[in-house]
Amino acid sequence: MASSSTKRLANQVAIVTGASSGIGTGVAVALAEAGATVVVNYHSDAEEAEKVVAHIKEKGGKAVAFKADVSKENQVQEMFRQTIEQFGTLHILVANSGIQQDATLVDMTLDQWQKVIDVNLTGQFLCAREAAREFIKRGVQQDVSRAAGKIICMSSVHETIPWAGHVNYAASKGGLMLLMKSMAQELAPHKIRVNSIAPGAIKTPINNEAWETPDAARKLLELIPYGRIGEVEDIGRVAAWLASDEADYVHGTTLYVDGGMTLYPGFADNG
Ligand code: NAD
Repeated sequence: MASSSTKRLANQVAIVTGASSGIGTGVAVALAEAGATVVVNYHSDAEEAEKVVAHIKEKGGKAVAFKADVSKENQVQEMFRQTIEQFGTLHILVANSGIQQDATLVDMTLDQWQKVIDVNLTGQFLCAREAAREFIKRGVQQDVSRAAGKIICMSSVHETIPWAGHVNYAASKGGLMLLMKSMAQELAPHKIRVNSIAPGAIKTPINNEAWETPDAARKLLELIPYGRIGEVEDIGRVAAWLASDEADYVHGTTLYVDGGMTLYPGFADNG
């Protein structure tokens, strides 16, 4: 095992939103293993967030839990303020929180539409803005990282693949694609790297009905050329790499981590 000084995210501070479950937990654990001090943001489940913190600490990492609703400006600002006060600064944001509120278009309420946009898109904007403000203010710390800061947005294959019955979710992730790219264009001169990870089907609470039963899992696997459903560790490892200087020239792009779901496997047999 690498010593703390040789770990690739040593001396870096990260906020991971929605880290009390699923992909966020996988990312928080992977960043901590790589040496980062991790703020485990959660929306409501303090107990689960504390379990993630305890798990990271057991493995020799550093973490604290912080409750904040990413769609609320004052709560996001307070989370960043307290993180910077406690740890001195911030180097990495993984804006991971996301929800689904599914309905057909004709049945979708304005509330279902708005909630998903508020968390999945506005939440990304609010967190990225606070991170960028700190990164610009502080600038590059050469002994810590080549970049002044790294912003990783958790998108989805549905930033590209249309999704009937989920227009709110697909619109939020499609919007996130150009939010990420526009932020990347704007922030590059400040040496701030901005990218997205677009997971395919990962086993988490958000989509358990899609893999819980053998029938559902078989149907889902038809969409995944690589032949397995993803695990949160698949995303965690990619996030830790993307946040590190090994990925220093990766900027303004979406990294699909989907077992080939975006290869349109329905066309494999001549369409
Ligand atoms: P999840 O439900 O386990 O995680 C979502 C997290 O967001 C939860 O911890 C939840 O508490 C948190 N959250 C919800 N509303 C919040 C709010 N207002 N403020 C702060 N946190 C809030 O599901 P997941 O699959 O781990 O999803 C994580 C991200 O990955 C989401 O953005 C999702 O869209 C994306 N994603 C997941 C998959 C998949 O297959 N699981 C695929 C593509 C994209």
